[in-house]
Amino acid sequence: MKFGGTSVGSVNALAKVVEIVKNTREQNHDIVVVVSAMSGVTDLLLNAAHAAEAGNEEAAREARAQISQKHTQALHHFLANSERQVVMTRINALLDEFKALCHGINVLGELTPRALDVIGGLGERMSAPQVAAILSHAGIPAQDVSATELIITDNRFGSAVPLIDQTGEKTNAGLRPILDKGKVPVVTGFIAATAGGIQTTLGRGGSDYTATILGRALQADEVWIWTDVNGVMTADPRVVPEAHPIAHLSYAEVSELSYFGAKVLHSQAIRPARRANIPVRILNTFEPDHPGTLITDEARESSKTVKAVTAIKNMSLISLEGQGMAGIPGVAGRTFTAVARTDTNILMISQASSEQAICFVVPTLDVPKVVASLEQELAREIERRDFDRIKVEDDAVILAAVGAGMKGTPGVSGRLFGAMGRERVNIIAIAQGSSEFNISLVVARGDADKAVRAIHQEFELEKPD
Ligand code: ASP
Ligand code: MG
Repeated sequence: MKFGGTSVGSVNALAKVVEIVKNTREQNHDIVVVVSAMSGVTDLLLNAAHAAEAGNEEAAREARAQISQKHTQALHHFLANSERQVVMTRINALLDEFKALCHGINVLGELTPRALDVIGGLGERMSAPQVAAILSHAGIPAQDVSATELIITDNRFGSAVPLIDQTGEKTNAGLRPILDKGKVPVVTGFIAATAGGIQTTLGRGGSDYTATILGRALQADEVWIWTDVNGVMTADPRVVPEAHPIAHLSYAEVSELSYFGAKVLHSQAIRPARRANIPVRILNTFEPDHPGTLITDEARESSKTVKAVTAIKNMSLISLEGQGMAGIPGVAGRTFTAVARTDTNILMISQASSEQAICFVVPTLDVPKVVASLEQELAREIERRDFDRIKVEDDAVILAAVGAGMKGTPGVSGRLFGAMGRERVNIIAIAQGSSEFNISLVVARGDADKAVRAIHQEFELEKPD
């Protein structure tokens, strides 16, 4: 069971966590708990680190006070004096570490990805002992465990990749004895370590990934992701009021959705579960009896071709245009190699068969370094005017319509584009993955919400399956 930031972020939420763990144990299940930092804490930590790099340590002082207050409040509610002292001592030591790190960063004027991972992971290291103590106090024997002892990764700080064999061994060695004693291990989400013991993180939202990595290593029966909504939704309910939770999705559908910005799951989290064929449930801590979304191997019979529509904002469309590109082999290769050198994730690519333009979508934040790298790589062609220009359109939004039923069903894109036409939404670019589980469109920011609503309506997603 993984409990996200809001699920461990308040007294009310923590009380639910205790109830959920207690009830599930009473049904004779062994449980491993994975926790996020209390909601808001990771942002406070990371922002303070960036401020320190820019010469401002005041942000760290403020973050420290706020984080300390969040934990004190929770601990006061649940624990007796002496128990509270033990946990608070550990939290204070971590807050001291935070202060010292920010001071160091300020003095050096440099924040490395490695340091950022240490600072970003402090929230989980405070949350795990807190949750373990609260469970223990409620009569559920629990023990906090640092995932740095369980999950071994490479050293790509900021989004490290787990090494499966070593992680399998370490996880079993670390967690089995605790489970055998009848205790609930409470593991820090998000963080891990290299084989040499240097702390890493699995990327923002990485606690989901922690849960499925551990689930795979332990051959768990199921992985339950406790969050603050009733599962994966047909669309963002802030945009589409009729949106509702989807009862069942396949691994393939969920990976398309989480890749395309549906904020339910870390983009990599489904992979370990899929490899080990472990069902994943997305459940609501605040409405624990709701069945949520069940994610399994098979694509179940469904009347819906499209099951969900999602939007990723803050994207930019970069196009290379020019007569000189046609027929020159290697241009696409060099273009994407130049982008890859900047460590930027390309979300979508399209090239028309006239070969006079290649366009692709990247996060707006990454545009300056991508353009600089392209200009360098293609300097000669630009000078020779083989390219007219590198064009950047900001404020692009990728919309993805996802559903396994699209595969082999004719007419889905016709309906999709028809709906866009009726709403007078201009489509800037289109791509369909060969999985046929997803059609993606790029539209302007101003059209995105109405486009999402139109797709939701066209495929009758407001009607439960
Ligand atoms: N606390 C981390 C974050 O905010 C990891 C997580 O919550 O999953 O990104
Ligand atoms: Mg999350």
